[in-house]
Formats: sequence, structure tokens, C-alpha cells
Amino acid sequence: MAKQSIRDINPAGKRCLVRVDFNVPLEDQNGTMVITDATRIEETLPTLRYLIAQGAKIILCSHLGRPQGQIDPHQSLRPVAAALSTLLNLPVAFSPTSTGPEAEAMARALPDGGVLLLENVRFHPGEEKNDDTLSRQFAALAEIYVNDAFGSAHRAHSSTAGVAAHLPAVSGLLMEKELTYMHDELQNPQRPFVVILGGAKVSDKINVINALLEKADTIIIGGGMAYTFRKLVQGITLGSSLYKPEWEPIAAAALEKAHQRGVKFLIPVDALITDSFDFAAKQVGQTRYTQPGENIPDGWEGVDIGPASVDLFRAEIASARTVLWNGPMGVFEIPSCAKGTFDIAHAIAANQAAKTIIGGGDSVKAVKKAGVADQVTFISTGGGASLELLEGKVLPGVAALADK
Ligand code: AMP
Repeated sequence: MAKQSIRDINPAGKRCLVRVDFNVPLEDQNGTMVITDATRIEETLPTLRYLIAQGAKIILCSHLGRPQGQIDPHQSLRPVAAALSTLLNLPVAFSPTSTGPEAEAMARALPDGGVLLLENVRFHPGEEKNDDTLSRQFAALAEIYVNDAFGSAHRAHSSTAGVAAHLPAVSGLLMEKELTYMHDELQNPQRPFVVILGGAKVSDKINVINALLEKADTIIIGGGMAYTFRKLVQGITLGSSLYKPEWEPIAAAALEKAHQRGVKFLIPVDALITDSFDFAAKQVGQTRYTQPGENIPDGWEGVDIGPASVDLFRAEIASARTVLWNGPMGVFEIPSCAKGTFDIAHAIAANQAAKTIIGGGDSVKAVKKAGVADQVTFISTGGGASLELLEGKVLPGVAALADK
């Protein structure tokens, strides 16, 4: 996507309002809010270090949680300023408001290479409404707007989109990388291009399936949504596996489209089944693998793909030159149902000749848990944003940036 990035401009000596995703998990430990996972802060460091080296004045803004336009001390970004300061080994100033005279004065006082973090933008009721008055107040802080919050780019909010109308607007390095892998690389992929899609519901993923049917050589379907396809193609009974009658025509249309376009469409041939399943307690009852093509009996449900499916999928993944994966193969949150998902993570990592792209959400967790995160080409930081991009939608936060 030909959007300008911070590498296309000269930010030296300029006040840059940088929208990042510092929506980190916080835990109240005896009255002190503690960051339990700083990954999102770490992801922004390349952009921040680049801007610091260029002598820019950096004004950081982000949302945290869902304060719904109210000031909530438990959802303050203040702890992030300290964490960022440690990571950068530099002082990071904190402004208790994200707009207005105090924030403006702190922004103007920044030296070249200085860093200021503003308070949670969602303390403003106008943020999620993309209120133009608020967008102008954000713009008043700076001379350049940088969007590095890919995970929020599917939202048209003041700090993610509206502000870009009032300042020169470019992407940060994380945003640029996301667009390269999650968009550009997939327009003209090296072939064979194998797409693996999992997840619970056919209805949630059908737009992604349809969009990728236009680009992929092979589509592999796993997870809860595979059962509808298995009923249609293999004529098996599903027991109490995830299935809705209204998903059948949607799945049938996707199969027809694959047939017309000559896209290979692979679905599981076997399953791990259980006779009882309690997601909240992370427990399953008796389990066994079905034989390839075997019906799932009444009272049993599929919770993972079986070994024959893994072999089938692995062989396809091994010959790919581009692999995109989104969505687990089973209920991978429960350890005894996670093998199929982890096997696929390993199969993807094993193909070192391919560009391997992990497209957000649960597959990212799976790749990390499987211990192969450093063996894949790219791991997206976006959940909803990744899916919308894969669906072919225009992301408001990206559309608002200057073209190259
Ligand atoms: P999604 O958010 O659509 O990518 O779906 C991810 C969820 O699908 C995870 O929480 C999985 O536990 C769930 N899932 C995957 N396979 C199954 C299955 N066979 N039955 C029920 N849920 C599943």
C-alpha cells in the first residue's frame, strides 16, 4: 500500500504526534497498576528509536481499555511512561491530559529527541466518535502525525483517523511493516500461496475466505468452522460439533467459488472428539480420534483436527512459497485439544523456503506457545485490523495517511 512513512519525511526538530497501541494488560497489585505484558510497548521501539535518532520531538498518544469517555485512574497510561523510560533508557515525560494548554505546553517544551506520553485518549468522550473538535485539539499539539497503531487502524476515531485531516500524516515503521506483509505481499504472493484459516464460526470468517479465494492456490480450513464443510463434502454426521444450518449455504458457495477458480480446498478428514466439554473450566471428558471419514457420534463433539488431517495439511504447507495463517485448528486454549494447532504451527515454521505470515489473534498466541515465533517471517500485531485487511476492507487509519 503506497503510503508515506516516517522514512519519507524529515522529522528533525518537528513535534510529531505518534499514535501507538499501548493498550497493555494492567493488574492492580495492592493499589498499584502493574503492566503484566509489555509486548505492545516493545513493538513501537523501532519507530521511537528512529524518530529519536532523527531528532524529532515525540508526543505519544494511545488508548487503554474502554473508559468510555470517563476519566478512570485504573485505566491511566501513567505506568506506561515509566516502563517506556526503562526500555528506551531515556526520560519520558507524562501529561495528565491528552489535549489543552498543559499538554500543549509540555509538547512545546520538548527538546529534539525528547519523548512525552499523553494520558489515555479515550478519557475524551469525543475520541471514539471521531469528533472533529477533538481531532483539531490533537492536531494543535504537533506539526506531523505518525500512525503506528496498526491494531487500531480499523477504527475511525479522532486519534487514529480524524487528526490526520489536520496534519501531514505518515505511518510509523510497525504500521509500514504490517501493511507490507498483511497487504502488499499478499497481492502478488510467491506461489504456491497456501492460506490456512481456522476459528469457531463460518459466519465470522466467510468474508476472509471469499477474499482469499481470489488470491490463494490452496485454502485449508480447520477449527470449529470446518465441521460445516465436512458435512457438505464428506456427508458425515457431526454429533454436537460446532455447526449451524444457516452456515451450510455460505460454506457451499465458498466451495463452489473454489471449484470455479481452481483453488484447492482442503478440509479435515479426522477429528479429536470428546463426550463432554467445559470451556470455562478448561476441561474435556473422554476423548478419542475418529478414523478418517468416520462419523462423529451423537453426544460427541470435535475439538481438534486429527493426525490424518495434520499429515494432509503439513504436506501442502511444505510445498508452499507463501503461507498465511489465521485461526486455530481446535480449542487450543485447552491443552489436550491443542495438538493440531501446535502441529500446524510447527509445520509452518518448518518451511524455511516460504514467506510465512501469521495473521493476528489466536494464531499468534499459538505460534508463541509452540515456541516457533522466531522461525516465521512475520507475526501481525493486529486482531480485528488484520481480519478487516484480509477481507479487503479499507482501514480508516490507513486511508487517512498521505500517499507516496
Ligand atoms: P476465532 O476467534 O473465530 O478465530 O475463533 C477462535 C476460537 O475458536 C478459539 O477460542 C477456539 O477455541 C475456537 N475453536 C476452534 N476450534 C473449535 C471447535 N472445534 N469447537 C469449538 N470451538 C473451536
